Parts: sequence; structure tokens; C-alpha cells
Amino acid sequence: MPIFEYQCPCGLRFEANVSRSKREEPRVCSECGDTAFLTLPASVAGHFRKDVTGAGPQNTGIADLDAHIDRVIGKSAEQGWAVQEQRADEKRQVMASTGVSGGHLSRTVDGEYLPIGDAEKAAHERALAIHTAAMDWKTQQENKKRGPR
Ligand SMILES: [Zn+2]
Repeated sequence: MPIFEYQCPCGLRFEANVSRSKREEPRVCSECGDTAFLTLPASVAGHFRKDVTGAGPQNTGIADLDAHIDRVIGKSAEQGWAVQEQRADEKRQVMASTGVSGGHLSRTVDGEYLPIGDAEKAAHERALAIHTAAMDWKTQQENKKRGPR
């Protein structure tokens, strides 16, 4: 039987020998008894994991629950870093195979790195400068509206 990997919300990740037809059935975590779900292949999961990073819940005052939440947050941060490292790896590979510098790479919405020319890079920098100026202007307008403190 093939081996599949499961992820429990408690942070435990484990493998199980399961027939292909039953791989999507949730497993019971041996550590906490919670429901563990089949993990997606790393390349696919990487795109979803972005969503789990973000503001964590506040302290609930219930020790068991907080410890559980802390583990989930810790796991989420770990997964976030894994995605970052994977991206850096992909970037290095594209740089090595195309011979362009990191400044001449653009990331598509699909997360793919593509080499860009000087003209495209200059256009990107102009767009960024316009965006920055617009954001500065917006902040100034909001500060004016707020008045002196
Ligand atoms: Zn568990």
C-alpha cells in the first residue's frame, strides 16, 4: 500500500499506509485524537499555506487551548518559512538557468519566476514609484482630515 502524509491541527504530521481509494478519509491523530487530514503535495500546498499566516488569536486564558493555538501558530510560521525557502530556491534555479540577476526576475500570479528585460524592469520601477507617491499623498490627505493633535 502507498504511504500518504496527514496533518493534524495540533501540528503533528504523520505518514500512514493507506490504499489509494481510502487516502482522503481523515485519520485519527495518535497524539491528541483530533482529526488529521491528507496533506497536499508540497508544490500545491505552498499556494494555500500563504493564507494561514496572519494575526493569531488572542490569549484565551485557557492553558490547554492556548498551548494548542501556540502550536498551530508555530506550525503555520514554520510552513510560511518553508514556502519562502522554496521560492528562494526556485528563484536561484531560474537565475542559474537563465543567467539573469535577481533584479531582472518577475514573479507571475502563478508564482513562477520569469526573466525580464531592462525596459520591463524600468516600467516596473516607475509603477512602483507612482504607487508609493500615491500612498504618500493619501496618508497626507488623511492626516489633514484628522487635523492637529
Ligand atoms: Zn493531533
